[in-house]
Amino acid sequence: MTNSPSGQIDHVLIEDRLFPPPAEFAKKAVFSTTAQYEEMYNRAAESPDEFWREEALEHMHWFEPFGEVCKWDAPNVEWFVGGKTNASYNCLDRHINAGRGDRKAIIWEGEPGDTRVLTYSELRTEVCKCAEAMKQLGIGIGDVVSIYMPMTPELTIAMLACARIGAVHSVIFAGFSAESIVDRNNDAGAKLMITADGLYRRGKVLPLKKTVDEALEKSPTVQHCLVLKRSGQDDVPMTAGRDVWWHEVVDTQAGELPAEPLDSEANLFILYTSGSTGKPKGIRHTTAGYNLWAKRTFEWVFDHREDDVYWCTADCGWITGHSYIVYGPLSAGATCLMYEGAPNFPEEDRFWDLVEKYKVTILYTAPTAIRAFIKWGDQHVDKHDLSSLRLLGSVGEGINPEAWMWYHTKIGGERCPIVDTWWQTETGGIMMSPLPGITATKPGSCTRPLPGVVPAIVDETGKEVDDHHGGMLCISKPWPGMLRGIWGDEARYAEQYWSMVPGKYLTGDNARKDKDGYYWIMGRIDDVINVSGHRLSTIEVESALCSHEAVCEAAVVGRPDDIKGQAIAAFVTIRDREPDEALRAELKLHVRKQIGALAQPDDLRFAASLPKTRSGKIMRRLLRDVASGKEIGGDTSTLEDFTVLAKLNDDEA
Ligand code: ATP
Ligand code: MG
Repeated sequence: MTNSPSGQIDHVLIEDRLFPPPAEFAKKAVFSTTAQYEEMYNRAAESPDEFWREEALEHMHWFEPFGEVCKWDAPNVEWFVGGKTNASYNCLDRHINAGRGDRKAIIWEGEPGDTRVLTYSELRTEVCKCAEAMKQLGIGIGDVVSIYMPMTPELTIAMLACARIGAVHSVIFAGFSAESIVDRNNDAGAKLMITADGLYRRGKVLPLKKTVDEALEKSPTVQHCLVLKRSGQDDVPMTAGRDVWWHEVVDTQAGELPAEPLDSEANLFILYTSGSTGKPKGIRHTTAGYNLWAKRTFEWVFDHREDDVYWCTADCGWITGHSYIVYGPLSAGATCLMYEGAPNFPEEDRFWDLVEKYKVTILYTAPTAIRAFIKWGDQHVDKHDLSSLRLLGSVGEGINPEAWMWYHTKIGGERCPIVDTWWQTETGGIMMSPLPGITATKPGSCTRPLPGVVPAIVDETGKEVDDHHGGMLCISKPWPGMLRGIWGDEARYAEQYWSMVPGKYLTGDNARKDKDGYYWIMGRIDDVINVSGHRLSTIEVESALCSHEAVCEAAVVGRPDDIKGQAIAAFVTIRDREPDEALRAELKLHVRKQIGALAQPDDLRFAASLPKTRSGKIMRRLLRDVASGKEIGGDTSTLEDFTVLAKLNDDEA
């Protein structure tokens, strides 16, 4: 390994396993030849206006045509200027009008095992009813609606009802505290709140409405609260004049409200980021560009076909739920499984039970879940017939090669391609991913950019780095699904994403491109570890640790060191072994053997679990404080479990 040029990141992990797409899969795929992808990619890069004009006309309904395709004045962008469309129309009416209203849209299973199926026609009726009720509660174009709900069909219905009348939804993950709801309500100026009496989680009922009541005491802009009866508790306090029951005001409507023609750039939603690197940002997405991006990326990446049963296990509280439970698949007319509860209730095999029962063909989940399944043991998987699966997806964090291999063998039976999708709340949809019919995959790489995505990897001066090193990942050209701003903070939008590398969107992640033109995400810009002048990627060191059979999960961070500048501190969770000195030494040596002496952790701590955001991402910034013996600083509002941190502090280093 050589000293990296300034601003570039060393690449130390060698991963050269290659998995070509199965021939059977390739034959029927949306993208079946590399030439097809290249032609499309080049057309989108060279004549973006023409490319996106055709895409928008073919794949969306327009009440009024747009003029200019893209008006770009960095950092401000408008797509499909002057056009009028409606995301709920594209998700529902478009299919119904084409005679496909009887297709199943949502197959839902609640945690206790109750089920419900909604066709596209039935879903539209429910969406219209909810929209009609919202209008009666005084909600119209541009009003913000906070949604704090369990993963029930009504959550999708509420989102689409907002879209139908031009209200702007702000979905708040139903595990957040009252304080976090207050922050989001006030930041967004929410006028209506939609919630449920309670939520099932691991067999217990969480009283959502009680949390909302606490939040509403400090949310002066919220005028009404619409409450779904989900758990059926009888002690739910309703404030007269403010609170109304869903079954009283929604179920009684006619269900026929036509979709409102909305400007292409009308705000569709606000969604707060996961808070992995700091205080969550309220990302603002608009109607037409986002809708088109979600639909097309869904169709490309998931190779969607008529007979698929598609399951994205995310929560609608995250962008993955917005784009790949609601807007993408429904715009594409897909049949989607939706599940309400925990993956380990009543047993650790619940996901596999669902896959078998509903004959799921496409499964999209997160590395944090995959690592949990590995830890829980193969016996839970082995009990079930997973032969319906044909495609697997991963999102949210980098997937370490060993977790990838497990997913490939145990879940995919070595026959399903894996799409490792890289993207962000800000990007609206998938940016880089294998195309399952044509891309030979490499464990740990998100492979190539989708049509319309023009990446650049640069050093701190904005200069492109050479291919064998890593640097900051930027996107050079606007794309339809990109964020339009941070709600109420345009200055932060310009500063955070556009100031460091002028004219380019700064993703905040590091990446490298290999000799085959494949991209490898190397972690967050803030997380780079600088050891004796070498800049190391967190993901690579973590992947080296994870390749040891005793390691389930690993997080590495830098801590100050007098001699080396920074020393490497590793936090690992293990399985089937005692956390003793021998294992500690063995793991350090393992990293040394895998990727070199320089990357060998100086400290290695065994942890019962790692601190994560509520969306399941490791929060390395908190571990940085723990490793350097500092008080934990920064925003911890999205931390999933405070006790994890306390336990880490108790552990011996
Ligand atoms: P915040 O922006 O508040 O710090 P966050 O970045 O975790 O939180 P999200 O928008 O939910 O919020 O996550 C996007 C980030 O997740 C990406 O920037 C990247 O770091 C990581 N990520 C997502 N998918 C992948 C992937 N396939 N490989 C590697 N990293 C990924
Ligand atoms: Mg981010």
